[in-house]
Amino acid sequence: MPVSRATFDAVMVPNYAPAPVLPVRGQGSRVWDQEGRELIDFAAGIAVNALGHCHPRLVEALREQSALAWHLSNTVTNEPALRLAQALCAATFAERVLFCNSGAEANEAALKLARRWAWQTHGVDKHEIISFDNAFHGRTLFTVSVGGQPKYCEGFGPLPGGIRHLPFNDIAALEAAVSDRTCAVILEPVQGEGGVLPADPAFVRAARDLCNRHGALLIFDEIQSGFGRTGSLYHYMQLGVTPDILTSAKGLGGGFPIGAMLTTARYAEALQPGTHGTTYGGNPLACAVANAVLEVLSAPGFMDGVKARAERLKQGLRQLGQRHGLFETVRGEGLLIGALLKAEWKGRARDFFTAAMEEGVWMLVAGGDVLRFAPSLVIPDADIDEGLLRLDRALAKVAAAR
Ligand SMILES: *Cc1c(COP(=O)(O)O)cnc(C)c1O
Repeated sequence: MPVSRATFDAVMVPNYAPAPVLPVRGQGSRVWDQEGRELIDFAAGIAVNALGHCHPRLVEALREQSALAWHLSNTVTNEPALRLAQALCAATFAERVLFCNSGAEANEAALKLARRWAWQTHGVDKHEIISFDNAFHGRTLFTVSVGGQPKYCEGFGPLPGGIRHLPFNDIAALEAAVSDRTCAVILEPVQGEGGVLPADPAFVRAARDLCNRHGALLIFDEIQSGFGRTGSLYHYMQLGVTPDILTSAKGLGGGFPIGAMLTTARYAEALQPGTHGTTYGGNPLACAVANAVLEVLSAPGFMDGVKARAERLKQGLRQLGQRHGLFETVRGEGLLIGALLKAEWKGRARDFFTAAMEEGVWMLVAGGDVLRFAPSLVIPDADIDEGLLRLDRALAKVAAAR
């Protein structure tokens, strides 16, 4: 039986509202739909396809591992997982790694580790988790409760307790809130879903100092900002502030589902055998692909390429914003870019998304007020330019229809 976008409404739970196009194939930063219509991909599967679609090195890694072993379980360990953990430890502050299958699960592990560590070393009272307004940490009940968008929790209560939300980038509020009852502060170095809003370096330093002073763990959710997206392997490397726990997913697998929690040997001790786990965690196929992504990202000059592409795309977006008088500002870090709509266009981001799709460019939104761009880290200049041309037409269309 043939399937189409209409099939979605017939057989899928309606928790998503997919666009009318139905992509079937991708190569680099171009994607083709069922009718053979081509799109420029400025979305990369929501900052996931770090090397675009069907990168030859990733295809090869998956093919090779698929002929060896698909799944072994955590009753044994496996070579791809060990290699990946070794490489992540060598490349970051981390000394221990836990693998899982998604971003939410990586955060779930991070939060559970922080609670368990605090419980073990200080007792039950030290359990408070501090998070920030508009933060996004995933959709499990714990991670969505820690996230800072109350509408995502509506109707799912009773919710996990011991969680406080503060305004983002507000040092005074943070100083007032962190106490000896705090077990963890969790933040995105660049808020992604919340509107592509970078954390102020001074705010992140204050969080580090306060965590040190009160024996709380600092967790960086780098699920969107990590794996080369901002022009370094993880964004904390540019901030010069090191977390106690870092969570990674999205770009890590380049499109193959995998998540990771990185931490130090000291804190890892809190999760002894039997305390936490997941069947697919460290799956050899996923780890083999992630190893290949990391290899490509580690090549000399790779991050310079990310920065150059980011500059080109940002420049182009600023010009379009000026031409059409639409953007308040173009912000973000590296290839995680947000164009904030002017006051008179607030809430209309989805209209721009739809018009862009019609003109053959696939971008993202972050809430109702921000157009979000998170293309492949190796997107060719020609595709950036062509995408901007198409976006120019889309913006003109929306502006004219007003
Ligand atoms: C996407 C995202 C998550 C959730 O990841 P899933 O793989 O969807 O569970 C968590 N935190 C941040 C910052 C994200 O961007």
